[in-house]
Amino acid sequence: MEDCIFCKIAAGEIPSATIYEDDDFRVILDLGPATKGHALILPKEHYANITEIPDELLQKAIVLAKKVVTYMMKALPCDGYNVVQNNGEAAGQTVFHFHIHLIPRYKGDGAGVTWQQGKLTDEWKAEILEKTKGLRGE
Ligand code: AMP
Ligand code: ZN
Repeated sequence: MEDCIFCKIAAGEIPSATIYEDDDFRVILDLGPATKGHALILPKEHYANITEIPDELLQKAIVLAKKVVTYMMKALPCDGYNVVQNNGEAAGQTVFHFHIHLIPRYKGDGAGVTWQQGKLTDEWKAEILEKTKGLRGE
């Protein structure tokens, strides 16, 4: 992808604060961190989102998330972690190259990685269970 900034960062064509790199991924510090240590896992190949990335690479990405989080929990140290992955503009995705946010959390940090809780209604439950029959092979 010619104009993709994360392709260029992942390839090392644009400098970044890289905390980890292997054949498939580069892990960089986010330039607009939610908290101290906020990092992004970038695959070196371009895939727009979770529906496009191949299963094998996605599996590697989540295992890498575990490795980095486990290390950083002690190294920072921090009290918790949000592992966040946005797909589509409506979900807050702004860079359309698959990435996983690793957001360290510190007690009382006030970072807004949350949502207002609604209520699961009988109507929603019935509708979604009906619409997911194929998912369960029914
Ligand atoms: P998303 O909103 O899920 O697409 O996340 C994009 C993230 O990329 C945001 O948290 C930005 O702060 C971050 N970001 C954008 N450009 C850069 C860059 N050049 N280097 C590091 N992080 C970036
Ligand atoms: Zn890209």
